[in-house]
Amino acid sequence: MQLPAALEEKFTTLLGRYPVKRSALIPMMMYAQDYFGFLSDELLTDIALRLDLNMTQVTETLAYYSMLRRKPVGRYHIQVCTNISCMLRGGNELYAHVQKRLGIGNKEVSPTGTFSLEEVECMGACTGAPAMQVNFDFYENLDPEKVDVIFEQLQDGKRPKPVPVISGALHERNPNEVVVISKNFGIPNSRSIDTYMQRDGYKALEKALKQMTPEQIIDEMKKSNLRGRGGAGFPAGMKWSFVPKDIPKPKYILANGDESEPGTSKDRPLLEMDPHQLIEGMVIAGRAIGSNQGYAYIRGEYRYIIDILETAIAEAYAKGFLGKNILGSGFNFDLAAHTGAGAYECGEESALMESLEGKRGYPRIKPPFPAVVGLYGCPTVINNVETLSSVPAIIRGGGDWYASLGTPKNGGTRLYSISGHVNKPGIYELPLGFNLRQLIEDVAGGVRGGKKLKAVIPGGSSCPLLSADEIDVSMDYDSVAKIGSMLGSGGTVIIDEDTCMVDLARRIMHFYAHESCGWCIPCREGTTWLRKMLDRFHEGGGRAEDIPLIDELSKNMLGRTFCPLGDAAAMPTISIVKKWRNEFEDHLHGKCAYKSAEMILGAH
Ligand code: SF4
Repeated sequence: MQLPAALEEKFTTLLGRYPVKRSALIPMMMYAQDYFGFLSDELLTDIALRLDLNMTQVTETLAYYSMLRRKPVGRYHIQVCTNISCMLRGGNELYAHVQKRLGIGNKEVSPTGTFSLEEVECMGACTGAPAMQVNFDFYENLDPEKVDVIFEQLQDGKRPKPVPVISGALHERNPNEVVVISKNFGIPNSRSIDTYMQRDGYKALEKALKQMTPEQIIDEMKKSNLRGRGGAGFPAGMKWSFVPKDIPKPKYILANGDESEPGTSKDRPLLEMDPHQLIEGMVIAGRAIGSNQGYAYIRGEYRYIIDILETAIAEAYAKGFLGKNILGSGFNFDLAAHTGAGAYECGEESALMESLEGKRGYPRIKPPFPAVVGLYGCPTVINNVETLSSVPAIIRGGGDWYASLGTPKNGGTRLYSISGHVNKPGIYELPLGFNLRQLIEDVAGGVRGGKKLKAVIPGGSSCPLLSADEIDVSMDYDSVAKIGSMLGSGGTVIIDEDTCMVDLARRIMHFYAHESCGWCIPCREGTTWLRKMLDRFHEGGGRAEDIPLIDELSKNMLGRTFCPLGDAAAMPTISIVKKWRNEFEDHLHGKCAYKSAEMILGAH
């Protein structure tokens, strides 16, 4: 098949990037789709031939990823998020407005082929909610008037100026912030290597290569008490120390940039505004475990970030911070960015590795753990983007200094993406152990419109919800766990008194039912049944016996699935039924005292 020259060049680059050809499959499909709008049989056959795959292997992989499509969409593909952070700030109303304006429904294309529309799950714009994407461009903090202006420009053939995440990360610094990994946010040209180097960039790498042994790097990481910022909170230094030393196989460093959990958009500014910090952290990690190859796996929706990261990687090669004999140390490290294609499940570490190998993102049974058997069956360290971005500061300032910023066993600072009903949603860097009440009231400016607080999701939609009387808690992994929730991914969602908790539970379950990979029955069937029951409840068709059934179904998913997604769906649901049972009972009588449900109940 005759391909455009630029796409041919991209394919050649991708084919040279991985030790196993199939790894190029998903990026090849994503980039080919950019050119042709969809993936035709002819195009897929061409890709299959290049990768020595058969069509079944290609199409069964394609079918797993929500961003890959076999039918054309409009020239402007409009995606509107209605997940929790957007929903709490008018996402449903915005979606209804867009439908009306375009005259098309979900997954439909306008008769002229100009527009297509899709209601989507979280796109990582939580602090700029409500948000939509036009192709890969982000537009945030929207209302119907702003949307109308965007469509007028599109209809005139113009590209409205996209609003990158810096709208959420560039706010006046709050006096409570302790600035470590966000120090370059808002600095002019922050993502360029020259700016980065003027601000201590790559000094940690020089120190790690010239003054430290790999063991000393790992010791420093252990001292720092840095715990994984993706959600699980596993100590990073310990994870690195599990990699076997004397093994003839290659080893890999993976950055997990697949943040997709509703409420979470904190890796995006790190990648967008300070890509070199991540690159430096990955090279140091490579040195520590004896790896010479890294991949940064970035969620497919963040296409512009992949471009930013690839530019930064090229700069780092040009200055000798990547490639052969880095800084004359004899150490070699190569790095590439890799695009995902729309699957929350790929944020789970073993599923991410499957995806990176060009397959469906099904998780692997553990043990063995990735440190021993990871990517391509080789020892692999996989850390969240924020975790790896914290490494240069730890090496520069020392593990003890970093640990001292937080609380015992919870070192350092972390980014919070604060969304929902607050006056100042945004991305803030705070020390571990910061008080949640203070985070809401002093940092995020309190609940919007003088409303009372009803609930808080402390760290992404998988966390059990906290009620308003539980917010005097230190935001560290152990303290939040003690009160029955999790610090999670730092995606803190604030919910006011007017919110219907049945509606919220319903929307959360829609997400997990959509994202379940279907491998294990409790998750596949549980999320589907719970979604249906919560929908029925929300629409006024609930029965008294459904309340304990929702609780029981959720509890039957806990701990009975191959990966944590089953738990992630169950935990918020169980907490909502337990703490706001009265709202379920209200719905039995066709009553809902809360605005979001009134509007929807009224519509049925
Ligand atoms: Fe797949 Fe859900 Fe099972 Fe995870 S818990 S493996 S997402 S079916």
